[in-house]
Amino acid sequence: MKLKILASGSSGNCYLLENETEILIIEAGISFKRIQEGINFNIGKVAGCLVTHEHKDHSKAMMDLMKNGIDVYTSKGTIEALGINDSYRLKQLIAHETVKVGGFTILPFDTQHDAAEPLGFLIQHKNMGKLLFITDSYFCKYKFKGLDHILVECNYKKEILEDNIDTGKFPELLRDRIIKSHFELENVKEFLKSSDLSMTKNIILIHMSSQNSDKELFKKEIARATGRPVFIGAKGLELYIGQEIF
Ligand SMILES: [Zn+2]
Ligand SMILES: [Zn+2]
Repeated sequence: MKLKILASGSSGNCYLLENETEILIIEAGISFKRIQEGINFNIGKVAGCLVTHEHKDHSKAMMDLMKNGIDVYTSKGTIEALGINDSYRLKQLIAHETVKVGGFTILPFDTQHDAAEPLGFLIQHKNMGKLLFITDSYFCKYKFKGLDHILVECNYKKEILEDNIDTGKFPELLRDRIIKSHFELENVKEFLKSSDLSMTKNIILIHMSSQNSDKELFKKEIARATGRPVFIGAKGLELYIGQEIF
């Protein structure tokens, strides 16, 4: 299984899990054209697309994907917030109810974000084991066991945010929104430390703030806190995350 990141962050998100026969798209927050390029125009290989919530940086290409024959899976709240519930390609996810998408088994769970009904995903596949995907959540109330791979938002560091507000580089008005909607470095550390990492092979940090983060520092601090290999999950990252190499 290969993980490929087409985009990550507030200007767009799209992540691919690809093996010899299938592609699972996670998030549709870039143009359909960029997704097509990312999958080498192999639309027939796509098993489906998961979308966490309605914000444009996660949902932008949903309509285009459905028009092109791809099933999109998301929550009822997200569907209602977007007002696009008329496509038979739209599949409603319910937190804690497992669904099969091709060879992938998906367990959605609720996350904490300023959106209607945001979700995170626990994704299982025989080629990669268990992968946790959690973004746009300032906190996670669940603890996970036996995770092989973790994609987790690491949006900002409190001190960097405060410095940017003090120096006028970041609007003070947005402080509360960030704090109540995105994962802060120390909170990510606590969350990871509370999870069982004994099986974890990769931790990939995603959705970093362009202003209030420090990639290398985040990578170093999460590696120190967890003792696991850590990657910066930015556009262009390609990583083999399973035994099957193709
Ligand atoms: Zn976002
Ligand atoms: Zn969001």
